[in-house]
Amino acid sequence: MPPGTSELHQELFCNLNGEILFVTTPQNVSYVDLIRSIDFVKRLDVKILGVIDNFAYLRCESCNKTIKLYTDNTKIDLCDKINLPYLMAFEIDAEISKYASQGIPYMSFRQDSETFQSYLNLSDIVMGREGYAS
Ligand SMILES: [Zn+2]
Repeated sequence: MPPGTSELHQELFCNLNGEILFVTTPQNVSYVDLIRSIDFVKRLDVKILGVIDNFAYLRCESCNKTIKLYTDNTKIDLCDKINLPYLMAFEIDAEISKYASQGIPYMSFRQDSETFQSYLNLSDIVMGREGYAS
């Protein structure tokens, strides 16, 4: 859900049976939201699974070189400082929107992609946590 500390957030988080995974983006403006959200969730005594960066980088279509759109690297430092797992960074994969626009489920048809592998790795992390049945 979008960042926030509203009554709705409080209601949902208090009735949550599980852990929270923060999905954020690498630029500093989202860093501020993330800190605010982490403080909020910690006050509610909800477990935090970790933090992932979405849209962290993209790949050049010609040479496959990784291009970081933001040079901010504050999430990893923050997670180290407050002892929160920084789980992974997801790339911007333009193919996902191409598939979605055509109504084709990307995850079913691009299991050879790095993006698919990233989602699989995240799934393994989540399912490997204590309290989650596999
Ligand atoms: Zn290139």
